[in-house]
Amino acid sequence: MHRITVVGGGFAGLTAAVAAAEAGAEVTLYEAHGTLGGRARTAEGPYRTHEGPHALYNGGPHWTWLRERGLLGPLAPLPPLEGTRLRFRYRGAPRRTPPLALLRLARAGTARRAPVDEDFRTWAGRIVGAEGARAAAHYSAVALFHADPGALSAAFVAERLRRAAKVPPEAHYPLGGWGALIDRMAARARELGVRTETRARVDTLPTGAPVVVATSLDAARRLLGDASLTWPGGRTVLLDVALRTRRGDAFAVSDLDAPGWIERFTAQDRSLAPRGEQLLQGQFPVGPDEPRSAGLARAGELLDLGFPGWRERVTWRREAEARGRTGAVDPPGTTWRDRPAVDRGDGVYLAGDQVAAPGVLSEVSFTSALTAVSLALGRRELDLKRG
Ligand SMILES: Cc1cc2nc3c(=O)[nH]c(=O)nc-3n(C[C@H](O)[C@H](O)[C@H](O)COP(=O)(O)OP(=O)(O)OC[C@H]3O[C@@H](n4cnc5c(N)ncnc54)[C@H](O)[C@@H]3O)c2cc1C
Repeated sequence: MHRITVVGGGFAGLTAAVAAAEAGAEVTLYEAHGTLGGRARTAEGPYRTHEGPHALYNGGPHWTWLRERGLLGPLAPLPPLEGTRLRFRYRGAPRRTPPLALLRLARAGTARRAPVDEDFRTWAGRIVGAEGARAAAHYSAVALFHADPGALSAAFVAERLRRAAKVPPEAHYPLGGWGALIDRMAARARELGVRTETRARVDTLPTGAPVVVATSLDAARRLLGDASLTWPGGRTVLLDVALRTRRGDAFAVSDLDAPGWIERFTAQDRSLAPRGEQLLQGQFPVGPDEPRSAGLARAGELLDLGFPGWRERVTWRREAEARGRTGAVDPPGTTWRDRPAVDRGDGVYLAGDQVAAPGVLSEVSFTSALTAVSLALGRRELDLKRG
């Protein structure tokens, strides 16, 4: 029987552990934190906030894999009326529909032709003009969390724009948050006999069996002592805020004048906040030298636009900053293939959202985890189906 060690019990580590155990391996998983989930944890307490994912995109490979194993669980559908409450800030004013230029760029036929070597701003500007290109770049920030999406590879940004603007939307929401999904994955791992140790930080690479290092790239760099393990990522200010309910509040506001997005997650999932309150999270990417206050100022502007009287309705709030925590971004001339490779040699494999694997956000963690396990087990490809 194969043995595999997995370091890190986030979405990538749990995917790797389940996939390896399904393939018959004896798996041990070490997680530094007291609970599993990593960035996909849902906070305990009255406000069920998330540092990381809310949306599970149904166009991704993880969706099929989770569904086939009965791990998707109940989803929180967005009521149709709430769906009509998406707002945009464009040229300083609220709008109900995005500019046509954005929709044109998001069309699959156009987006798929976006070049790798050119930046999005230049490529999109040629097609729809500078203003439309800027609005589309800012919209795409919802799925890439970077302060200047227009400067990134056109192919990278266009893929995110296409998927984030798809109708019907790809974004779905596990009921009770991603923590519920993580609990289901952890239960499946247990059923399959995965040995899990929490509060077990690994400081030196385990030997004697192939190792899947499913930590952040920063942590992997330290663990492997390999300074080459770097890749650009975003920096974003996060604002979680609970408001007393007011009828007619926006569902989400997308900033097309600057990168930024705020969403009322209780619109689809009432279980995330106490009765009579709504839970919102906003994300406002900032540049390397921009102060956090710049992101928070934009948060205030979007709240003013979509949530009248919000200041008087605040019952709770929390601010945070995510630096290099929102996945890889690809500069012009690069694709996911140029990121740090999964196979590090000597039976060590990387999984996570900044390594060489395709997909959007957590899909990169998922795909790299399956690749890592396939390589570790010497299989060309893992059977994605159960059994
Ligand atoms: C603000 C924000 C919003 C996001 N929104 C979305 C979204 O809507 N949809 C989406 O799909 N994705 C989203 N993402 C991305 C998603 O959160 C990540 O891609 C995904 O959670 C990463 O999972 P992971 O397992 O690769 O890494 P992590 O979740 O970081 O897991 C790594 C684990 O390794 C552990 N660890 C680290 N070092 C050690 C060690 N030495 N020993 C043992 N354990 C260790 C950590 O404690 C952690 O539990 C978002 C991210 C952020 C920050």
